Amino acid sequence: MPLASNTGTKPLLYNLTLDELKNWLVESGEKAFRAQQIFDWLYVKRVASIDDMSNLPKDLRQKLNEQFRIDSLKEITRQVSQDGTIKFLFQLVDGHAIETVIMRHNYGNSVCVTTQVGCRIGCTFCASTLGGLKRNLDAGEIVAQVLMAQRSLDEQGERASHVVVMGIGEPFENFDNLLAFLNIINDNRGLNIGARHITVSTSGIVPKIYEFADKGLQINLAISLHAPNSELRSKLMPINRGFPLPKLMEACRYYIEKTGRRISFEYGLFGGQNDQPEHAEELAELIGDMLCHVNLIPVNYVPERDYVRTPRNEIFRFKRILEEKGINVTIRREHGSDIAAACGQLRAQHAKETAG
Ligand code: SF4
Repeated sequence: MPLASNTGTKPLLYNLTLDELKNWLVESGEKAFRAQQIFDWLYVKRVASIDDMSNLPKDLRQKLNEQFRIDSLKEITRQVSQDGTIKFLFQLVDGHAIETVIMRHNYGNSVCVTTQVGCRIGCTFCASTLGGLKRNLDAGEIVAQVLMAQRSLDEQGERASHVVVMGIGEPFENFDNLLAFLNIINDNRGLNIGARHITVSTSGIVPKIYEFADKGLQINLAISLHAPNSELRSKLMPINRGFPLPKLMEACRYYIEKTGRRISFEYGLFGGQNDQPEHAEELAELIGDMLCHVNLIPVNYVPERDYVRTPRNEIFRFKRILEEKGINVTIRREHGSDIAAACGQLRAQHAKETAG
C-alpha cells in the first residue's frame, strides 16, 4: 500500500486505489464497505475536507485525518484561452510547481496531467527537461490534477471525459504511481474515466512498454517518435541511444499484438530537421504495416532551442505522403495558442519570476 509519500508529509488519501482503501480500513478495524463511501465523497461529491464526509463515524474521520491529507494542490495561476483551453499552475505541498491543462474537443473535455516535477529524459525540443528531474509525483498528486480540473469544470456543469498523460515528465519512469493513478481515475465508483478515454504517452522506455502491454489494460498508448530513423531520433531524443528505434518498434508491435489496440505515434515537425518528403517516406516505410495512427504536431518555437515551425504547406505535404501510403494521420489542433501553451512554459516562467 502506497502509504509512503514523495513529499515528506502525510500521504494523500488520493494515493489509494479502492482495494487499497478497503485493506487499510480492515487493518484499522473498520468495515470494508466504507471504502465506497469514501470514494464517493472524494471523487463524486468532491469534498475539500475529510470532516465533510458526514456519513462516516466520527472516529473513522479522525483516523483518516491522522493518517492522510486531501489538501493536495494549491492553484497559483489559471490562464484561460479564447478557445476554452485552461492551463493551471499548481503548487505542491513541498513548494514545487506543476502544470495541468484542460483541452476542449468536440468529443469532450480532456485533462492533460503531469507525472513528474521536471524530467531527466532530455528531449532537445522540450522546456520541461531543462532543470532536470526534481522528483516523482505521488499517485494522489496526479489524481488530484484531474480532480481539480473536474472541480473547475463543475462550475460550468461539465465533465472531464478524457485524460492524457502527456504533461511534464516521463510517466513510465514513475510506473507504479502511474498504474495506481490509472486504476483510481478509471474506477466507476469514482471519477469513472473510461480506459479507452485515457492515453499514456512515453518517450520510449522499451521494457516498460512490454510491462504495460502485459497489464492487459484497454488504455491507449502514444509514442513520442519524432524521427523515422535512429540516427535522427538520437539527435532529437537522447533516450534513443539507450532504447534504439528498432527495439522500440519491436516493443510497439508487441503492444499491438497483446492488446489489439492501435498505437498513436506523435511526430513533432521541426523545420528543416525531420519534416522533409524523404522523412515522410521513411516514416511510412517504418510503420506502414502497423495498426497505428500518426499525430503530426507543428511545434511551437522553443526560445531555449533553435527549432522553428514547419510552413503550413509543408505540413500538409508531409501528411499527404503518409496518407498515400494508407496511414491514418491527423494534425494536432493547437490548444491555447494565445496563452503559454507549450508544455513547461508556464512552469519555466513561474520559476524565473520566483527566482527573480
Ligand atoms: S518531452 Fe516528455 S519525456 Fe521528453 S524531456 Fe519533455 S517531459 Fe521529458
